[in-house]
Amino acid sequence: MNIPVFRFAPSPNGLLHLGHAYSALVDQHFAERLGGRLLLRLEDIDAARCTPEYEAAIFRDLAWLGIGWENPVRRQSDHFGEYEAALNRLRKEELVYPASMSRGEVRAFIADRETAGENWPRDPDGVPLYPGSDRRLSGRKRAELLAEGIPFAWRLDMAAALERVGAKLSWSELSGADLSASSCIEARPQDWGDVILARRDVPTSYHLSVVLDDALQGVTHVVRGMDLYAATAVHRVLQELLDLPAPGYRHHRLILGPDGRKLSKSFQDTGIAALREQGATPEAVRRMAGLEEG
Ligand code: GLU
Repeated sequence: MNIPVFRFAPSPNGLLHLGHAYSALVDQHFAERLGGRLLLRLEDIDAARCTPEYEAAIFRDLAWLGIGWENPVRRQSDHFGEYEAALNRLRKEELVYPASMSRGEVRAFIADRETAGENWPRDPDGVPLYPGSDRRLSGRKRAELLAEGIPFAWRLDMAAALERVGAKLSWSELSGADLSASSCIEARPQDWGDVILARRDVPTSYHLSVVLDDALQGVTHVVRGMDLYAATAVHRVLQELLDLPAPGYRHHRLILGPDGRKLSKSFQDTGIAALREQGATPEAVRRMAGLEEG
């Protein structure tokens, strides 16, 4: 029988808070319950925001909470070459295109359309979809722009990708005390438009690295917060395009702040380190995270 593989994948761009603790503890809980492995992965592609200090704090906080993980820990910044190889495969199939509109240009473009009465679509996170005008550039025009050295990101041509995949996509959302029940959830990647697969400043993106890493690390169960529920649709498309297996998913509830909003790394009062310094015990943190409620 294959051993289930779980992972906790924080970004070392801030201190862990109660929401991260909850996620890591839920991962640990299911890994233990199913006799599986728990991996830790550092999602540190953003060199400008990730620091060795935050990384050290993650190790410290998890160890304090009583969470163990396997070594070596996968650090995404050590694997840019692997992500580039996957991107090159999609480039060869003409499923990605260089997108050079700056944030300001996108905003102006959309403002124009909205002034003209158009209702510009937003993705499930509320961000306006990329206009994709450069998707339609001729090969010559595109080569000219690239030769000028303009900065660009690589975006997935979602319509082409979905045509290539052909079939309707879905994922298994797992439930039950031992994750043995599952519902088939219809994936709607089209709601995200032409997502970024490699940023201007980084040779990959969250979406591309997460699907490759889950596959390369043999992750069978992705247990993470509800905030990534809709993004799973993007992950499913990429898995199909790159011939990667689809793990099962379990999106757990989010811990909300006093204002009813998702916790952010700037919530100092719910930081694990701050709670520890105030004298909280790991058991108290488990209780605060409401772990019993699963
Ligand atoms: N690195 C992501 C975060 O810190 C989590 C990614 C995932 O679990 O798929 O929110």
